[in-house]
Amino acid sequence: MIDKHSRKISYLRISVTDLCNLRCVYCMPPGGTELSMKEEILSFEEILKIVKHGVSLGVNKIRITGGEPLVRKGITSLIKHITNIKGINDVAMTTNGVFLKEYATELKSSGLSRLNISLDTMREDRFHDITRGGNIQDVFDGVEAVLKAGFKGTKLNTVVMRGDNDDEIQDFVRYIMERDIELRFIELMASGWKNMVDEERFVSTSEIMEKVKEVGELIPVQQRVGGGPATIYKIRGALGSVGFISAVSKPFCKTCNRLRLTSDGKLRSCLLTGGEVDIKDILRSSNLDEKEMQDKLTDAFFKVADMKPVVHSGKNRAVMSQIGG
Ligand code: SAM
Ligand code: SF4
Repeated sequence: MIDKHSRKISYLRISVTDLCNLRCVYCMPPGGTELSMKEEILSFEEILKIVKHGVSLGVNKIRITGGEPLVRKGITSLIKHITNIKGINDVAMTTNGVFLKEYATELKSSGLSRLNISLDTMREDRFHDITRGGNIQDVFDGVEAVLKAGFKGTKLNTVVMRGDNDDEIQDFVRYIMERDIELRFIELMASGWKNMVDEERFVSTSEIMEKVKEVGELIPVQQRVGGGPATIYKIRGALGSVGFISAVSKPFCKTCNRLRLTSDGKLRSCLLTGGEVDIKDILRSSNLDEKEMQDKLTDAFFKVADMKPVVHSGKNRAVMSQIGG
């Protein structure tokens, strides 16, 4: 599938739930978001149908996200089914890490390739504040469980926010000195409800890099083609590496190869801008035979691919937990 700006679409990010056990300040309002009715959420059968259709159009890489994907019951069985689909060669997950201690081994045997764990602070009290109630030890235990289970290419995603955690950049770097983890510093995006993200809290990649360099020399790593939006460096003497995602100061839209599926069945062209098509309606329409349904799904995939903007607007008034971050 090639979009009208000649980008090859091969990556589908699937939000399997809009529920979350945390309430991160930049992601959700304090009382949580208005949740979809249970029957609005795609079933595993529906998700698998969409993935198989995506594969027939060139999708070969999947990311499972949310809300918090590990709160969806039976998630490892969905992953097992996805990894068994011919044509899929990479299935990763983004998680807040809280439940990884109990899930790491099961996730490994389900065939999951890799994990991205979101962690914005190394301090217990701050974690409690940023996530509105979470316990940081659960995440630290989760990270160790993932390394012990034998996962390679584990990433730690850190959104840097002025006044909240920008004084911890070097603590994060020290954490990966002896752990085989790719630490990725992510620029804060102005998403969500108004006032949820105060733009003065934005810290640019160039500012973050200056602080990282004080811990150790940055050695550029050759990027793989299609290897993702981060610019990656080794740090002299470190087991882990550091990546920078500059979605705001340097959008990577030109090489964006992804579409998104929301938990309530909307195929979306971009996290921030662009349109979407409700493909749950197609899957659930009773008056279509199999061939008509496949044709409509193909039309929807192409339509959404063509909705992808050349460059995003940088802002999104929807909520990350609903789209999948
Ligand atoms: N609950 C899982 C987690 O936290 O990893 C998966 C869903 S979460 C919406 C996915 C990612 O979106 C997280 O890494 C989170 O930090 C990021 N995110 C949410 N709101 C953001 C914002 N305003 N700017 C940048 N990243 C954001
Ligand atoms: Fe939940 Fe992830 Fe959003 Fe935090 S960033 S509230 S963990 S969905």
